[in-house]
Amino acid sequence: MTTPTKTLCPYCGVGCGLEVQPPALPGKATYRDDAGTPTWRVRGDRQHPSSRGRVCVKGATVAESLDKSRLKYPMMRDTLDEPFRQVSWDEALDRIANRIRSIRSAYGRHSICMYGSGQFQTEDYYIAQKLMKGCLGTNNFDANSRLCMSSAVAGYLQSFGSDGPPCCYDDLEQTDCAFLIGTNAAECHPIVFNRLREYHKKNRKVKLVVVDPRETSTAKAADLHLAIRPGTDIDLLHGIGHLLLRWQALDSLFIEDCTRGFPEYTQILESYPPELVARRCDIRLDELELAARYWAENERVLSMWSMGLNQSSEGTAKVRSLINLHLMTGSIGKPGAGPFSLTGQPNAMGGREAGGLAHLLPGYRTVKNPQHRAEVERHWQLPPGQIDAIPGLTAWDMILGLEAGQVQLLWVAATNPAVSMPDIERTKAALRRSPFTVYQDAYYPTETADYAHVLLPAAQWGEKTGTMTNSERVVTLCSKFRDAPGEARPDWEIFAEVGRRLGFETQFQFSDSAAVHREFVALTKSRTCDMSGITYDLLQKQTVQWPHPEGADEAEAGCYDKRLYEDLRFPTEDGRARFCAVHSRGLAEAPDPDYPFVLTTGRVYEHWHTQTRTGRIPKITKKHPHPFIEIHPRDAKKLEVLDGMWVMIRSRRGEGKFKAQVTKAIAPGTLFVPMHWGFLWADNSQANALTHPEACPDSRQPELKACAVQLSPLDGEVEASQAQASTSELSPIGATEG
Ligand code: SF4
Repeated sequence: MTTPTKTLCPYCGVGCGLEVQPPALPGKATYRDDAGTPTWRVRGDRQHPSSRGRVCVKGATVAESLDKSRLKYPMMRDTLDEPFRQVSWDEALDRIANRIRSIRSAYGRHSICMYGSGQFQTEDYYIAQKLMKGCLGTNNFDANSRLCMSSAVAGYLQSFGSDGPPCCYDDLEQTDCAFLIGTNAAECHPIVFNRLREYHKKNRKVKLVVVDPRETSTAKAADLHLAIRPGTDIDLLHGIGHLLLRWQALDSLFIEDCTRGFPEYTQILESYPPELVARRCDIRLDELELAARYWAENERVLSMWSMGLNQSSEGTAKVRSLINLHLMTGSIGKPGAGPFSLTGQPNAMGGREAGGLAHLLPGYRTVKNPQHRAEVERHWQLPPGQIDAIPGLTAWDMILGLEAGQVQLLWVAATNPAVSMPDIERTKAALRRSPFTVYQDAYYPTETADYAHVLLPAAQWGEKTGTMTNSERVVTLCSKFRDAPGEARPDWEIFAEVGRRLGFETQFQFSDSAAVHREFVALTKSRTCDMSGITYDLLQKQTVQWPHPEGADEAEAGCYDKRLYEDLRFPTEDGRARFCAVHSRGLAEAPDPDYPFVLTTGRVYEHWHTQTRTGRIPKITKKHPHPFIEIHPRDAKKLEVLDGMWVMIRSRRGEGKFKAQVTKAIAPGTLFVPMHWGFLWADNSQANALTHPEACPDSRQPELKACAVQLSPLDGEVEASQAQASTSELSPIGATEG
């Protein structure tokens, strides 16, 4: 029997452990997908502490995408109107290095940008930071995590003095009350939600509160579902705070000893009396009071959130307003309690640790901090002053930079901005203006490949060894179990090779990813995310939750119930956490007579992001052949929309056709569309054709969750043109034929 290779699911931030075996095993029939292609066998890893052998449909089928539509060779073209031609790695890398040199001398270092991904392994992230922020001296590295959880990062940083989710998954089974806001965990983080739901079912005293404008699968399991009006999250949280203050349901000792800013916060709360809050949120007063009572009466409240709070023009304020409730009740730093952000991508956490956003440096450092810059410069053997003190361009700022001609070279890796960015037609027009775009990915075609001058084939999950960190800070070694197709290479090796060609031989002498990891974890020593005691040797024996400093007892490595701030000291200057005193501002684009509906966007259980993998797995595409829109029966009746009818949605930026699902799961006045469909998979059904780029001033995370739209029924039959492209219809270019 072949020993299975242990790895991590490459989809969501739950981070389920997987075991993978080859399609052909002695004495067993060859394992095949629906089309009869031999496929690697994937099952849950029972030893993995985060998932204990469980896996959802995405994890279970991931191997079925490995050999579909792969990009195998470097390709180039001079203009976007030409076809790609296959080239050698030398030719492609020389062209990139020469272009970087010439752009740097003509336009300066800040005209070069890289846009990376939470799909990177930590080693990829780390080398990209070293190349961009260190060697090239520009902080213009941002990742798609900017669209996903940068408000959580900013919220933690401002409230606690450091990034880092303080909780662990064991808290799911030790809490008195789980307060889920802005997260459809049942569909987007299913294995975490299953753990919580089982515990909730067995312990009827445990309360589950879900705050969401839609009656999602998550909301259906709740004791209390608060279907608030979109954009009123802060009103609700301050309304709860107001009642806690009125009832004196406070942890006064904790507030006194461990926090700052409570008096300012209480002043703000005066403006949020329950009657007003219930009206604004469009919920009943008794529902609001019940939610507040759950916070007041339970010692251990665990709050969880994801995109519903983060993807907002007041995302950081929302996160901090939620953290305020933990600070006022002392519900933090103990089992079953605390604020717990659920990360969207498999290694968004590793990206944060490695400094993979435009304002960060490795080891939870920031580019603005002179001491942090000096520490990293020394570690990278670069001269003092090499790292710029100004944060680089964030994801949307890169689009603005392309529009303005400020960005001359854009390097996109492992992400698909031509679908995932807001205001997608504007995004695509900006991408089209890019003088030089490198696109590094495992798959072809993708929507973003249309805008590239150079395509670089990347090895993906299972084809390279590296580490990933999940939402509960557990680091897993993801071991290689198969060779990459064609000439595809690991992302970090590509970045390092370009670095060497630019003259930084000393900085990029790595024999393998273990050497990269050693250098990276040394930079985390004595930081909140201390991983200096984690080695590949240790990870080969077991996964490890950080903090795990150098010299820590090896038995400690097997503990997965570590929490941050158990000593109630926070990494701020005075050791105290900070209350946040801000008023609610509401939606950046509120509905009006011309655009009377609020459109919310989200995900479905089976699909992942822009379908780069899941769109190529027939089992999954069969479940969701069309993009759809949810509409309440009252609105449908008014507009003469029937269930199954195609409708046109228009915002101030664009339009899209969707098939109506008439359902009471959505509130009147609100609509919902999934965000997974780009132009590769359906005709004119992109959620982001409608969304706007207004972003949180602190986190720079755009408000992808809500915009104002109008709706009209479509005449005639559009079914045929709308039919989803099947995987066989997607014909990869000749040289990449899978
Ligand atoms: S819950 Fe997330 S990490 Fe776990 S198997 Fe599903 S997609 Fe993968």
